[in-house]
Amino acid sequence: MKGLVLDAQWEPKPDYVVSDWERKTGKAITGNSVWRHPSLEVRDWPDPTPGPQEVLLEIQACGVCGSDMHFYERDDQDYILYPGLTKFPTILGHEFTGKVVEIGKAVTQLQPGDMVTVEEMIWCGRCIPCRNGYPNHCTNLEEIGFTIPGAFANYIAVDEKYCWKIDAIAERFGSEEKAYEVGAVTEPTCVSYNAMFERAGGFRPGHYVSVFGAGPIGLAAIGLSKAAGAGIIVSFEVSPQRLELAKQVGADYAYDPRAVTPSDVLMELSKGAGFDFHVEAAGAPEKVIPEMEKALAINGKIVQIGRAAQRVPMYLEAFQVRRAQAFGAQGHSGHETFPNVIRLVASGRLDLSPIITARYDLAGTLDAIAKSTKRADGKILVKPN
Ligand SMILES: [Zn+2]
Ligand SMILES: [Zn+2]
Repeated sequence: MKGLVLDAQWEPKPDYVVSDWERKTGKAITGNSVWRHPSLEVRDWPDPTPGPQEVLLEIQACGVCGSDMHFYERDDQDYILYPGLTKFPTILGHEFTGKVVEIGKAVTQLQPGDMVTVEEMIWCGRCIPCRNGYPNHCTNLEEIGFTIPGAFANYIAVDEKYCWKIDAIAERFGSEEKAYEVGAVTEPTCVSYNAMFERAGGFRPGHYVSVFGAGPIGLAAIGLSKAAGAGIIVSFEVSPQRLELAKQVGADYAYDPRAVTPSDVLMELSKGAGFDFHVEAAGAPEKVIPEMEKALAINGKIVQIGRAAQRVPMYLEAFQVRRAQAFGAQGHSGHETFPNVIRLVASGRLDLSPIITARYDLAGTLDAIAKSTKRADGKILVKPN
């Protein structure tokens, strides 16, 4: 089969201390400090064969994620930009849907022909965090499209326990093709859902919600806020195209944060009460958190989803005076998240189909990633088969 393969050289930066675990596993915990001179091309890769508990999926759609951009973009020393867990060579792509075409001997939940989407996090179920119910903090984590082969490819073999059926979405749309496309947005939507409702405990219907950043994660957060009954939803985003998408999926107001002072806007809209729930999906917390702090309602919550490896000035007095809380969140697994997001889409209460703004075939995957680096699109899909 074919796949978009990333290869790079293991050349740790001089100031980076390589741990024994990294040396033993060949996995870099901080990819940006280790992987140099990356090459990306669509090329031949051995066909996967499913193990006893695995299913073979013919991949139908795979979204381009911000992290895929960070493999494509390099720093001034030619290291990948992506800061997280990685092992190369591997096939990229982790936001996907597929059709089951073959099942292993011990598979019990799925059959050939089933339509599924898949978790990206291959949590082990055996480490202490997994056993305590925190699969998003698994210490033996493998990640599809980061440490093991991903879905910018014709096929993937994956344990059935990471697959979730999307036939209810197909029934909703009356189209398998549409269900495979919309289903590919499930994974990033689950990242937003996990952060907002599992980690931060959500908000009450009627509460005022601000979402900073309207890339796919922020757009999903807006759609989820609407579905959950927010009183007002405000989006801040620098791209004019994305501001339009924000309104299409549920934002009542959408602003370029360079043209206004976000905290003033939020205080005005709430008539001085402040906003109850703030979502950081911009990956720029050093700019965003100080604005959120100035617009905290009593009992206000701030949820950090965007990734940024830097310290942020926080004025904790604001959290004391406003009885406020900040929540860090990562991942999408466990806690009923995948099934609940699929239910919302199948019910029609969450429709993120407007955010899909471009489609490419497998041979065009590099063009798809290049387009995403313009940061103007919503979700770009690759449809390999
Ligand atoms: Zn992603
Ligand atoms: Zn684990």
